[in-house]
Amino acid sequence: MLRGIGRTGPGGAPNRYGATVLSDDDIRSSMEAFLARRSAGTRTTALGAGSDDLESGLRYLQGAAAQGWAVPAWPAGLGGRGASAEDVRAIRRVQREFAVPDLYVYQVGLAMVGPTLLAHGTDEQQHRWMPAIADASEIWCQMFSEPEAGSDLANVAMKAERDGDEWHLEGQKVWTSRGMWASWGLVLARTDPEVPKHAGLTMFAIRMDDPAVEVRPLVQMNGDRHFSEVFVSGARVPDDWRIGELGAGWNVAVTVLAHERASAGGGGGGGERKGRGGPPQPPSWLRRLEPTGVLEDPVQRQRAMRAHAADQAGAWTNSRAASSRTPGPAGSGAKLRSTRRYRDRAYFALDAQGPAGMLADVEEQVEFLTAPSMSIRGGTDEIQRNIVGERVLGLPAEPRVDRDAPWSRSRKGLL
Ligand SMILES: Cc1cc2nc3c(=O)[nH]c(=O)nc-3n(C[C@H](O)[C@H](O)[C@H](O)COP(=O)(O)OP(=O)(O)OC[C@H]3O[C@@H](n4cnc5c(N)ncnc54)[C@H](O)[C@@H]3O)c2cc1C
Repeated sequence: MLRGIGRTGPGGAPNRYGATVLSDDDIRSSMEAFLARRSAGTRTTALGAGSDDLESGLRYLQGAAAQGWAVPAWPAGLGGRGASAEDVRAIRRVQREFAVPDLYVYQVGLAMVGPTLLAHGTDEQQHRWMPAIADASEIWCQMFSEPEAGSDLANVAMKAERDGDEWHLEGQKVWTSRGMWASWGLVLARTDPEVPKHAGLTMFAIRMDDPAVEVRPLVQMNGDRHFSEVFVSGARVPDDWRIGELGAGWNVAVTVLAHERASAGGGGGGGERKGRGGPPQPPSWLRRLEPTGVLEDPVQRQRAMRAHAADQAGAWTNSRAASSRTPGPAGSGAKLRSTRRYRDRAYFALDAQGPAGMLADVEEQVEFLTAPSMSIRGGTDEIQRNIVGERVLGLPAEPRVDRDAPWSRSRKGLL
């Protein structure tokens, strides 16, 4: 049974800004109803690497969503509890004491589609889709990338043609993560080829069980089959499933990508504590290395501490950034840092195995083989650096020769 939560600060006092926040103890006792405590032996996967576990995420989200805990910042009635940014920070902090399952399969809905519907969806769309995302009853996938449109996403060729109150969608997407498990796809499609590439796009939702949608899983280098190529052959989509205005798809896509990068860059920092509110503990990835003896070596210890310090600094930076509900270009910096952290930790953990690390069945191999994909998914490192350079540092923009030409006459796919 979940307890009601009062909006009093820790110890009942308002915080230094005069606002009240959820008390850690109240958050803790509510979470105990649907989450087990994290212990030294707790191991969860990250980003679904090496795992196809849909079940534990489903159980957690079903339990949490019943009281608005699955996505606390979403409004009550749409699957959340209307928590303030400060409350969300407190919830995240306390959550680190618990064994939260890997929610990779559900992340497109939770971290990207939900916030995008809040920004661009109609009231009806928000009520139709958001509660089903929060309680995991419907999984979403992101159908943006195409064989000729990755970094140059505005080049997408999937065609959407209007026919009365419906749209006919035709084309191919690729690298669609969770395509085979999804009920819904968020599709970026071209509704007007005769205007410049960014202006002719519109965002739609599509049913993945439509017979006109074929999902073919692809094998990744770490052995997973989490992404797929998707062929859409004349799928009919009602105009009610258009998200945002006609021709405003690029704007909607930018919102999705900003949330994707902010969520990929989020977290970190271990933040585990011994007992309730006890002293901070080294994170579990570091504790797992202790028995190997690798930390006895001063050079390796220094390497481990550097990774740990970067992890902590990243967590604090993310915590500061979490006060903004609409992530902007700073999310690209967060993604770059988290990619680096993931890689450093994965490489160090594998090195710590010594020659045994070369064996394919060593557990650390999965993260080692997943690390390169972090630099690609959600936009490559180079693209994130371009965004930071141009939109944060104000450096000169790179040349974009096809920017103003009608898409039908631009140099599609020819680099
Ligand atoms: C694990 C994984 C999951 C993914 N999941 C999804 C998903 O669910 N949905 C989805 O739509 N997509 C998904 N993607 C696709 C991903 O978004 C694209 O792979 C990515 O945007 C890069 O596009 P591309 O592969 O076409 O590479 P390209 O765009 O062809 O880039 C090739 C290389 O050129 C560089 N480059 C390109 N343009 C520039 C430039 N202007 N300046 C500097 N360098 C440049 C790139 O950095 C890269 O190194 C996923 C990818 C991975 C690896």
